Amino acid sequence: METAVSTIQIAEVLNQLGVSQENQGTSTGINWLSSSNYIDSISPVDGQLIGKVSTTSKEDYELVMKTATEAFKTWRLMPAPQRGEIVRQFGEKLREKKEALGALVSYEMGKSYQEGLGEVQEMIDICDFAVGLSRQLHGFTMHSERPGHRMYEQYHPLGVVGIISAFNFPVAVWSWNTALAWICGDVCVWKPSEKTPLCGVACQNIIAEVLKENNLPEGISCLINGDYQVGEYMTKDSRIPLVSATGSTRMGKIVAQEVAGRLGRSLLELGGNNAIIVTPDADIKMTVIGAVFGAVGTCGQRCTSTRRLIIHESIYDQVKNAVVDAYQQLRIGNPLDEANHVGPLIDTDAVAMYNNALTQVVEEGGQIIVEGGVLSGDGYESGCYVKPAIAEAKPEFKIVQHETFAPVLYLLKYAGDVENAIEIQNNVAQGLSSAIMTNNLREAERFLSHAGSDCGIANVNIGTSGAEIGGAFGGEKETGGGRESGSDAWKVYMRRQTNTINYTTELPLAQGIKFDL
Ligand code: NAD
Repeated sequence: METAVSTIQIAEVLNQLGVSQENQGTSTGINWLSSSNYIDSISPVDGQLIGKVSTTSKEDYELVMKTATEAFKTWRLMPAPQRGEIVRQFGEKLREKKEALGALVSYEMGKSYQEGLGEVQEMIDICDFAVGLSRQLHGFTMHSERPGHRMYEQYHPLGVVGIISAFNFPVAVWSWNTALAWICGDVCVWKPSEKTPLCGVACQNIIAEVLKENNLPEGISCLINGDYQVGEYMTKDSRIPLVSATGSTRMGKIVAQEVAGRLGRSLLELGGNNAIIVTPDADIKMTVIGAVFGAVGTCGQRCTSTRRLIIHESIYDQVKNAVVDAYQQLRIGNPLDEANHVGPLIDTDAVAMYNNALTQVVEEGGQIIVEGGVLSGDGYESGCYVKPAIAEAKPEFKIVQHETFAPVLYLLKYAGDVENAIEIQNNVAQGLSSAIMTNNLREAERFLSHAGSDCGIANVNIGTSGAEIGGAFGGEKETGGGRESGSDAWKVYMRRQTNTINYTTELPLAQGIKFDL
């Protein structure tokens, strides 16, 4: 099988994005720092080395922080709508580079080209959202208890925002954070996943061009690269008031403690264990599309991927057969070939975790009903292509309680009322995305009520994956409690200040306290 992106084509993609194949990785905005240590970026699509990215030393990090801190002094003084104009220009550049960046996302991370384009579209959408928001960073006014006094609350920029991101959304998560942080007057230092470093370089080039064209300080957007140790530079750094970290719950627990230890703020977007409840009133056709896309899209590597189908016993066999049938039609292969539905896992470590999950579910008493397995041979040389698998399981199995970041779907049966399904759904440590398939209004409303789903996202007649940027995104419990993207998520990137102004010649004290001199 011939790969859709040949070495020559990827060279062209990198060229369009201004990414050289070596020695980029630490950027103080416009300027790149050189270093002698590298991370290799290996494509899971064909196992080829795409390029090398230099890692950030502690000394380079200090330079980055100096530039960012300096830039903040200028950036925070620029009126928010003018900052919005810079974000608008960034969105325009993304529109120009959408195909190239989408192809790089697909080739470096392994998601389908369509999903790569979708990720860049999400970046464009959040830019548009942030531009409008730049004129709406409003506080409140309230009545003072003292005569001749005025009271109000306003929001100010925080400073340097640190962003740590995961491999599975190598560009969008950064933009959810930066687009909002920038209009709020913050500057950003980003450490992308060490598994997708070239996506980071490409994004940095795009914003650096905008900053340069507008004669703005380079440190408004900085890039650092490396593994968790480079991430730790930021979590331990009290010059960074907010660390936004996206990744595993394991990582989030460490980051949360580190940042809390210095009384900084963290915004955590961690693992999910998302379920779709299928009730007797579900539209089966819609259920199958939602469940299959949710389970195998991005090869099961979305934080919102569907991992559990909780099906009522009366329709269990019907739903099971329909989903199993749909799996027979899946085409697995190069994600840049648009005929394929499922691309590779990110690396062979992920393949090992997928294999372990399949072994464990059987050990715990589950039954595999769609066989998994690692593909080999022509077109599968990277060793990262696996068959999406389905297992019948019990909700309490340890492996079902765990987020396996791979295309393994567990079928769980429930009896009786929808409450029983909601209890199964909520009875996991994670709380990101959830869905119910039903045409029964009572069931839908119970699912959405305060006694319903305990997740940050709860959908009716839509699967668990694929959120729009307009709503706040994030989850509860071990998912970390953070909210990013739409709605009022911008407030996390600002500090809040209450102001009271006395326009009289008296100085009355609050609560009527007397203090006469
Ligand atoms: P990961 O936790 O292995 O790594 C994520 C990032 O954290 C990387 O940049 C890594 O270098 C950094 N990191 C790891 N340990 C660190 C430490 N101690 N200090 C500072 N930085 C550290 O996650 P991954 O494998 O890249 O991504 C998959 C995970 O991310 C899944 O659990 C998925 O559910 C989650 N995710 C969540 C969301 C969300 O919005 N909730 C979105 C995307 C991904």
